[in-house]
Amino acid sequence: MVKCPCMQTIYDLNLKQMEEMLAEHGQKSYRAKQLFTWLYRKRAESFEEMSDLPKALTEKLSEEYLLMPLKEIERQVARDGTTKYLFEMADGSSVEAVLMHFHFGDSLCISSQVGCNMGCKFCASGLLKKQRDLSAGEMAAQVLYVQKELDVNGGRVDNIVIMGTGEPFDNYDNVMRFCEIVNSDHGLAIGARHITISTCGIVPRINDFAAGHYQYNLAISLHAPEDELRSRLMPINHAYPLDELMAALKAYSEDNHRRLTFEYILLHEVNDTDAHAKKLADLIRGMNAYVNLIPYNPVDEHGFQGVSEKKALHFYDVLMKNGVKATLRQKHGDDIDAACGQLRARHERNRQNG
Ligand code: SF4
Repeated sequence: MVKCPCMQTIYDLNLKQMEEMLAEHGQKSYRAKQLFTWLYRKRAESFEEMSDLPKALTEKLSEEYLLMPLKEIERQVARDGTTKYLFEMADGSSVEAVLMHFHFGDSLCISSQVGCNMGCKFCASGLLKKQRDLSAGEMAAQVLYVQKELDVNGGRVDNIVIMGTGEPFDNYDNVMRFCEIVNSDHGLAIGARHITISTCGIVPRINDFAAGHYQYNLAISLHAPEDELRSRLMPINHAYPLDELMAALKAYSEDNHRRLTFEYILLHEVNDTDAHAKKLADLIRGMNAYVNLIPYNPVDEHGFQGVSEKKALHFYDVLMKNGVKATLRQKHGDDIDAACGQLRARHERNRQNG
């Protein structure tokens, strides 16, 4: 049977939804755990191989659901082993995921939307407007695809960062369901503290996240310590300026006893002076937080440049001297289309130009 691309992927269902779906098929609830195990532990490639499920059920599931909703259409591997995957979804849209190797394990950065409407001025992903949200299963499939590849050498996706194309909190329900699925003991069992959601600062969703008392990590793309500059770089700041954003983050951090990460991309002669570092320190002083300084991978269309290593180290020093904990992230994959969304943007351009 040829499956219609509009069919839902089975990876969209969390355990409870799987129990409900199976109950509609007259099955007992324990079948959901069996099915979850086949999907995520045994990494089944087809419904037919799920040998301890009734044949009539696997046939029905195979008529009703897609299994893997994506395929790899391009990859780039950098000298440092960073691997960028371009995936095509069942409806023909494409998204990126990036696997990076750190001393603390392998981290996979996944996309949460096809394109992004947030319009951050330095970002390649924002060059292509949002076409649609990804479903929970389309996000889970990015992880599973890479995990299956790592299985060959006994490797593991240790950490997931939802920081690729898209604003996760603009696709809140699907992102939270995705986190639940990959975190589930019957799923990929990736610990909540190994899953990081990175938002540009959608305050109402930060409040929802705080109210949910989740154990996932929260990172904020800050990139500027003052409203005028942040509004220029990140239009979301017009809707949720820094005082509102910081108040929501303080409340979240205090209520949940969680440490926050502030992401700060260093842009040459834009946000990289001592004055910026001091303002940044003032902004987050007293919070349970640290700053992750990120080297910039230039995007031709935007005209921003990254800073030298010396400059980045100096900025780091100023933060530390002003009482702010910071890390300076190494550059990953700068010999490939390393900026978020760059590979996809090039692919889409080529496609449009025939
Ligand atoms: S930085 Fe994130 S939120 Fe901003 S345009 Fe890029 S993908 Fe969207």
